[in-house]
Amino acid sequence: MEFRDLRRQYAVIKPEIDNAIADVISSTHFIMGTEVQELEQDLAEYVGVKECISCANGTDALQLALMVWNVGPGDAVFVPDFTFFSSGEVVAAVGATPIFVNVYHDTFNISAENLEECIEDIVNNTALNPKVIIAVDLFGLPADYEKIRAVAKKYDLKILEDGAQGFGGAIGTKKACSFGDISTTSFFPAKPLGCYGDGGAVFTDNNDWADLLRSYRVHGKGKTKYDNVRIGMNSRLDTMQAAILKAKLPRFVNRELVDVQEVADWYDENLVGGGIKLPVRPDGFKSSFAQYTIRFDTLEIRERVKRVCLEKKIPIAVYYSKPMHLQTAFEDVRQIQQKMFDTESVCNTVLSLPFHPYMERGEVLEVCRVIKENV
Ligand SMILES: *Cc1c(COP(=O)(O)O)cnc(C)c1O
Repeated sequence: MEFRDLRRQYAVIKPEIDNAIADVISSTHFIMGTEVQELEQDLAEYVGVKECISCANGTDALQLALMVWNVGPGDAVFVPDFTFFSSGEVVAAVGATPIFVNVYHDTFNISAENLEECIEDIVNNTALNPKVIIAVDLFGLPADYEKIRAVAKKYDLKILEDGAQGFGGAIGTKKACSFGDISTTSFFPAKPLGCYGDGGAVFTDNNDWADLLRSYRVHGKGKTKYDNVRIGMNSRLDTMQAAILKAKLPRFVNRELVDVQEVADWYDENLVGGGIKLPVRPDGFKSSFAQYTIRFDTLEIRERVKRVCLEKKIPIAVYYSKPMHLQTAFEDVRQIQQKMFDTESVCNTVLSLPFHPYMERGEVLEVCRVIKENV
C-alpha cells in the first residue's frame, strides 16, 4: 500500500502522458512552449477566474503574490498556525512579519474569530501595518471565506488564498483558487493535481496584477526579457510539466475528484465512532482531499496507532507535528504575539491516512480495521 499511489495513476494515464512528453521533446520548446499558455487557459476556465499565471512551484506562487502587493518590512501578514511551512516562509522572505492565527480544530482551517483578535492585537500593540490574510485550504478543504472576507473588509486587508492543497475543492458552485483577491496552488507530485516535478500557479481576476505577475516571474521583464523594469524571480513552469498537467486535467476533473469522495466515504463509514474524529466537511463545502486526516483524543492513542500502522506497513503521516509559531526559523517573530496558541493539541492528535483516487475498498477496510483495533 502506498500513501499516495502515483504509480497506479500512471499505469492508467500512460499513453496520454508519454505522448505529451514526447511532443515537448520533439518541439524542443522546453521553456514557455505553447503548452504553458494552453494550460493556463484550461486552469483559469476550470477555476472560473480571468487570469492564471503558472510558475515554478507553490511557494514562489505565494511569494509572487506578495511581491505584486508590495508587501515588505513593517507589514503584518496573518497566517494559520497549522499549515505547511511555505505559507509563513514567504512572508518572512519578502521582509514582512508573519502573525500566526489559531485554526478551528474540526476543519483545521484559520479561525476567523481568532484572526480578528490577532489583527486587533497588532493594531493596538505594535507599529506593524496589517496588510494581508493568507488563508490556507488545508488538506483540500476550502477555508471559511465568507467569515474571512467579512474580517478582511472590516480591516481593509487583502486575502491571499493558499490553495496548494485545495485545488479541485469548492464552496457551493465556486471553485477553490477563486476565493482570494489572489489565489495560488502547487502542482508538487503529491498534491491533488500533481505534475512530475515542481510546478505552481497564481489565479486572479485583476488584469493589472496578472501583468505584474507575468513580469515578476521572468526577472521583472518589461517589454522583452532583456528589458528589466523591476527586480523579479526566475519562476516559470517548464513546458514539460505544463504538457503533463494538460494531459492530467480532464481525468482529474471527471474521475479523480469523484473517486476521492467515494474513498472518503468508505473511510467515514468504517471509522465512525470509537473515539476517532473524522475530517469535517461543512454543508456546501467540497474537499479535494489532499489528505484524509483524523484526530484522536490523546497523543498517547495517536502514537500507539501510528506505531502499529508502521509495524503493519500501513503508510501514515503526521501533518503537521509542529505549529508554525514553534518553528525555530520563526524564533524572532514569535515574541511579537502575546497570546494563547492552542495548535499544539491539534499537532499532537492528528494522523493522515493513505489516500488517493486509485485506492481500493479492501485497502481502506484494512486501514480502518488496524486503526479501530488500536484506539
Ligand atoms: C505544498 C504547499 C505549499 C508549497 O508548494 P510547493 O510547490 O511545494 O512549493 C504551500 N502551501 C501549502 C499549504 C502546501 O501544502
